[in-house]
Parts: sequence; C-alpha cells; structure tokens
Amino acid sequence: MTIAVDFDGVIHAYRKGWQDGTIYDPPMPGALDGLRTLMAADAVFIFTTRDISQVASWLLERGFSVRVGHDGPFWNERGRLLITNQKLAATAYLDDRAVRFENWDQALAVLGADPPLNPHYSHETCGFRWHGRDGLDLPMRDGQPVCPRCELERTRAALDRVRKALGTTFMAGPNAVSVVRADAVRAALDEPKEQ
Ligand SMILES: [Mg+2]
Repeated sequence: MTIAVDFDGVIHAYRKGWQDGTIYDPPMPGALDGLRTLMAADAVFIFTTRDISQVASWLLERGFSVRVGHDGPFWNERGRLLITNQKLAATAYLDDRAVRFENWDQALAVLGADPPLNPHYSHETCGFRWHGRDGLDLPMRDGQPVCPRCELERTRAALDRVRKALGTTFMAGPNAVSVVRADAVRAALDEPKEQ
C-alpha cells in the first residue's frame, strides 16, 4: 500500500496556522513514531503545499531518510519518505482537513455544516492551552486564532473603563439617573496605548 500524509496539522503541530511560513511548532504527539510505524509496512509520502525542501530538511533533522520530489504518479519505495507537492496515487490520505467523500449529497451536507473546530491552540504569553472538540471554537482575527482568555480580559478591561466613563449617577436604587458622556464612553472603548 501507499499512504499519503499531510504535513501541517498532522506531522507539524501547526497550532497557530501559517504565520510567517516557517515550521515553528514541534511535531504532533506521536507523529514521528506513527510515521515510522507506517513506513515499516507501507510506502509513505508527505503531500504538502509547502516548499518541499523546507519540509525535507525538517524531517531529515529528525532522523528520516527522505527524497525530495519524484517523477510519475506512483511512489512504492519503503523505508524512505518522499516529500512532494503533487498529488500521487495512494491507498489512503491522512489529512486533518479531509472530508470523507461517499456521495455528493453527503459531502455537500458536511461542507455546508459549521466549519471544523480548531483542534489545538496554545498562547505562550498567558499560558492558555486549549484543545478543541468541546463544542467551542476559537475567536479569529485576520484569519489567525486569538487567545480567548486574553480576549475576555480585554473585554473586561474595556467594560471597566466604560463603567468609569459613564459619568455621575444621581440617587441610588432603581430610579438612578446617569449622566452619560458619549465621547468619554467612546474613548473608553479604545485600548490605552502601551508605553
Ligand atoms: Mg493540514
């Protein structure tokens, strides 16, 4: 058999998306051993949209015998990983973004449903770690996931500033009247510039 394996999100943890195009994350847990297990029984190639020599160096540094690029539609060599950006014939494709095709009705139903959750995210600065599949998705900004804990903190701080900017409250209790200064509230919503 020949097995095709995706790189980002399957071999490379890829917790923050594409970023600057570097391979910045460690391997996915179990990825290197998993590849070796597959390679003992089958021909394996890595199918990636990245620069194939970049991926080859990363795998070479981790002890794999690799081949960069290949002519023809088949890869049958065991014990050596082919790195390619061409879709070659394979018995199975292992990919974190795959949708299994059974028929068009089923495939369109899957693709029309909610987009898949971000499976992993960690924010080194605040130490937040999150693993998906619990029914929540991460907030996104400019196509990149942002830390939900920091977002919440930012919202809380903005609310505090708004509360302070709300002005004078006359009387206490249910009939209290607040004098709201719109410009002050608007200014409070902006994050203070860091020094
Ligand atoms: Mg992927």
